[in-house]
Amino acid sequence: MSHTAEIIAVGTELLLGNIANTNAQAISQSLSSLGVNVFWHTVVGDNPERLREALDIARRRADIIITTGGLGPTYDDLTKQTISAAFGKKLVFHPDILEDIRRYYASALHVPMPESNAQQAEFPEDCEIFDNPVGTAPGCAFESGGVHVLMLPGPPHEMTTMLRRHVEPYLRRLSQEVILSHDIMTFGMGESSVEALLRDQMEKMTNPTLATYAKPSEVRLRATAKAATQAAAEAMLAPVVAEVKALLGPIVYGMDVSGLPEACLNMLKEKKLTFATAESCTGGQIAERITALPGASQVYRGGVVSYWTSVKNAVLGVPQEILDQHGAVSEETARAMADGARRITGADIAVSVTGAAGPDPDERGTPVGIVYIGLSTPEGTHCRSLNLGKRRRDRIQNLATNHAYDVIRRYLSNLPIN
Ligand code: ATP
Repeated sequence: MSHTAEIIAVGTELLLGNIANTNAQAISQSLSSLGVNVFWHTVVGDNPERLREALDIARRRADIIITTGGLGPTYDDLTKQTISAAFGKKLVFHPDILEDIRRYYASALHVPMPESNAQQAEFPEDCEIFDNPVGTAPGCAFESGGVHVLMLPGPPHEMTTMLRRHVEPYLRRLSQEVILSHDIMTFGMGESSVEALLRDQMEKMTNPTLATYAKPSEVRLRATAKAATQAAAEAMLAPVVAEVKALLGPIVYGMDVSGLPEACLNMLKEKKLTFATAESCTGGQIAERITALPGASQVYRGGVVSYWTSVKNAVLGVPQEILDQHGAVSEETARAMADGARRITGADIAVSVTGAAGPDPDERGTPVGIVYIGLSTPEGTHCRSLNLGKRRRDRIQNLATNHAYDVIRRYLSNLPIN
């Protein structure tokens, strides 16, 4: 049986727009990977009457209600009391949990526990308590009349810790089925073009299913199968993944990776190669994306943000004649930047970016969106020329960064750079 969930985020700060409801986003992502349908997100202030109204609506239309926030010790933290009253449950005090909270104050916070925290050790009768190793407010879950209610704390790192430790196992126990997904990652084609190529397959599929999700400049295809066992689900997904790869060809750059940088990291590690960067209009984004990943030091030697032409010349050794004759935003400069970065870092390959990110054309009148990606390798130097059009500056920088990684992964896969 498939389940239907509603997420209720409690907090006046959310309604005032002081913070974004990232907890609902994280819970939705987790539930969708478990095959639980999330049909509603509700946000309600720290107000018991309106929370009660939201609960009355939710229990009529969902069989899983997950709340976040309002579990703290302060007067406006009313989630547990309100939910217990709505479901006709008494609150029961758990002295052992209070001792856990007291210990957390002593060992992690190094202050004595305020006595007002005692209410954090009260839970609705007959519930499962979720411990909170990174904060003070434990969560809990109970079932009443076929509706499962799960209460999680508001602080995002506490909420996500509890989500992984307790909520996901709890929800898995509710379902007899294994739900397995694989993400097929593509770069180089828009979502509607990808969908057009796969529409026939997608329309006739029920299990497994195939869905597209557009990220800035990338399309993720998620294939999901439901089966009795993990092995059966894998066997159902294998032909779908193979068919998608065959239909989309070289725009597929990986499976179950977070993005192009991770795909490149894995390939470089496998081939025991290192790379370096020389960036102009991306201002260090290529370096930032790789160093955000654990294990980057095995493959990334370093880079230069050479924003001024004098730096391109003095640090990377781009010849002054090239800069004078072709300008800083040119194929020749991109190639020389990549060669320079490879030379000064000793890396196996180096990628470079120079372009006009806007909002105004550069001093030579190069239109916004013109970008050159250089790649210096032991076999020679390559260049990809792009016209990304008159987009927003941050979009051009993000796209150029992805193109740089795409050039690297195509080189490593023996595919043409362009
Ligand atoms: P505490 O024990 O810290 O009081 P709590 O469970 O009572 O935890 P709240 O007081 O509601 O949680 O929220 C604590 C903080 O967590 C908020 O100030 C906010 O920064 C963050 N937070 C709460 N709800 C959300 C949400 N839905 N999305 C993102 N952040 C949130």
